[in-house]
Amino acid sequence: MLWLVMTTGKCNLICDYCGGSFPKDVVSWQSKYNVLQLKQVIEKNDKSPTIIFYGGEPLMNPKFIMKVMDTVRASRWGIQTNGTAVRLLPESYWKRMNVALLSVDGREDITDKHRGKGVFRAVIKNAEYLKSMGIETIARMAVTKDSDIYEEVMHLINLRVFDKIHWQLNVIWSERWDFENWAENSYLPGLTKLMDFFMENLKEGKVVKIIPFLGVISAHFTGGYRGSPCGAGYSSITVTPEGRILSCPIAVREKWAELGSVNGFRLLEDPLPDYCKSCDLNKYCGGRCLYASNERYWGDDGFQVVDSVNKRYLRLVISKIPEIEKLIEGGVLSKEDLIYDPVQDSTEVIP
Ligand code: SF4
Ligand code: SF4
Repeated sequence: MLWLVMTTGKCNLICDYCGGSFPKDVVSWQSKYNVLQLKQVIEKNDKSPTIIFYGGEPLMNPKFIMKVMDTVRASRWGIQTNGTAVRLLPESYWKRMNVALLSVDGREDITDKHRGKGVFRAVIKNAEYLKSMGIETIARMAVTKDSDIYEEVMHLINLRVFDKIHWQLNVIWSERWDFENWAENSYLPGLTKLMDFFMENLKEGKVVKIIPFLGVISAHFTGGYRGSPCGAGYSSITVTPEGRILSCPIAVREKWAELGSVNGFRLLEDPLPDYCKSCDLNKYCGGRCLYASNERYWGDDGFQVVDSVNKRYLRLVISKIPEIEKLIEGGVLSKEDLIYDPVQDSTEVIP
């Protein structure tokens, strides 16, 4: 299971996607529970925990990270960070981390426009440092109307500092924008081009780890997702600094997300939203994002617009599966090369 452990609600940046730190009365900036409680609840519920530090910016509370790593046993350690304050955690702790997800949106000007001047260069330098210690690096992109998906992803691939690339669309939790036109004229054509690049590499036996493609292909071979691929509420939970346990790390104010506390919690039994039950793509999609389906900030109409683009992206990836199966039959690839478990990395698969 995945445990997203929030170390603080504080952040050192003010990116325009989320606006920076949480107010202290929503997500505390200090841990309010004893780490031994975390150890107990994890040991009681999980034989093979993956623990990923989350925030705010988790590196704003490095002492808590050190305390958890010194106290709790985990099969896999990781962090989701904005990548600017990496030096605040001593190297001996970094050396025990398996994976680092770094926020970067693609090209330098696009990243700095939304995250602040100089952020791109700081993140790339720190990604190189983490990679040099053998930590797996994942670029975690936010994709907006300024993004050209093909250009942004290719830019990050060509830098060769990230082992995997993932992105999320800046939709539904932000102010509504003209997503429909952008998707039609930029995003979907860009995805087609990117998929061609991915397939060209597959034909040579190389898997370029573009998670929104890989996670959908993997679902085909593994039986698929029973809920949001991020695992929200059924194979992933979030522990807030106050010791609350939530299904989703974004849903810090929402009652529906509360599953309990470090003293005990229950998982969601049926995480697939009702409206997805009869969808022919649900095995590949798992209902996309649980938060977005519960909090329809763009209204039902906006939700449907995003969903129709989501379906077109899914069908694009699924359309390549017969060709991929032929590559496997021909011995160019093995099925194992295409198996991806998002819960190991704390990625969402579906943008
Ligand atoms: S494509 Fe849409 S309707 Fe189908 S499972 Fe995903 S979110 Fe649900
Ligand atoms: S994909 Fe949605 S439900 Fe999953 S962690 Fe992200 S915001 Fe929460």
